[in-house]
Amino acid sequence: MPGSAYRYVLELFDQDGRRLGQHPVDPDWEPAREWLRFSTLCQALSGSASSQGPVDIQPVWSTAAGAPYVGSFRAVMTLDSHDPRPAICEIPTAYLRSLAQDAATGLVERGLLKEGDTFRYLVSAYPAATKVESHSTCRFNTEEVSPPSCTRVTPLATLQARATPFGEIGEDPFPLFVPEAVLAEGKARVQRAGPVETGGLLVGHLHQDAASGGPFLEVTAQIPAAHTEADKHRLRFTPATWQSAQAALELRRRGEQIVGWWHSHPAQAWCSTDCAPEKRAACPLSRPFFSKDDLLVHRVVFTKAFCVALLLTHLPSGTIQFTAFGWRQGMVQSRGFSVLDPSGSLAPAPLPSPTLGGNEHATPCTS
Ligand SMILES: [Zn+2]
Repeated sequence: MPGSAYRYVLELFDQDGRRLGQHPVDPDWEPAREWLRFSTLCQALSGSASSQGPVDIQPVWSTAAGAPYVGSFRAVMTLDSHDPRPAICEIPTAYLRSLAQDAATGLVERGLLKEGDTFRYLVSAYPAATKVESHSTCRFNTEEVSPPSCTRVTPLATLQARATPFGEIGEDPFPLFVPEAVLAEGKARVQRAGPVETGGLLVGHLHQDAASGGPFLEVTAQIPAAHTEADKHRLRFTPATWQSAQAALELRRRGEQIVGWWHSHPAQAWCSTDCAPEKRAACPLSRPFFSKDDLLVHRVVFTKAFCVALLLTHLPSGTIQFTAFGWRQGMVQSRGFSVLDPSGSLAPAPLPSPTLGGNEHATPCTS
């Protein structure tokens, strides 16, 4: 049904299965569309697809409950008239998790749910009225997408030969390489910043493997973010941050593009010094997490499906832990990466699983 649109409703339940209410939602589908465009582009690079077209989002009905309940979503791209096969990718209902969390926060405020309570949600979809349908057509991005101009054809094996895997690698949509020098520079800046958040931009190249045609991302440098507004719980990039980063990138004259960002969580400054050492070690703020604010920055600024984010968590023990995040199926997820040219001085510690959109930066550690 090209041009069709649906409206979506979340139904929330408590852990005993009691229905808490219905919440109409208006999902932001652009990351899902961008993900399909990127996946299709990767296939095009490897020679199995040819073009890009408008992307429609459709509900896939739940096999257990049937319509109007949604089991997943499907992003569908109509390719040109010479190729009748549409490009498709599946998007899980977890795509709406942050909207469900917002709805749950509303229920907490109304006293229907307690903070920390487990809740479940179901997604249902209804064909939108004609009025909404006409509105939806202007939300479809029909722009022709050409391959990123900076894509370079490089043998993946040449980078693999210089790299050591870091974190869990396997589920990632494409390989990511970060030089140890970039991690070391970030680490030094985090140590200097002490209790204040710090960060910067990641620059590099999107490559296409000469053998398989698949994409991979090489970070080549970090540009410290200048002119930021930073404190213990927040790092804000200002217009001057972007201007100076762009100027620094041009001065480098290496044909790099901005491929992501990095920032720190000074967890050692968030935790009360009154906490017992074992309690500080187990503090949820010491876990790597991508906050709601972090997700917003990534969604607004780093919209390209290949953009990544590095998080440096400064633990109460003084250790700095590295975690990478990136787009997968239109959602920001934690991901693995490989350290380029490792000297062995940044041996990876076992990582606790990162959380997304959960803890706010400003949540204090209770002693
Ligand atoms: Zn953050």
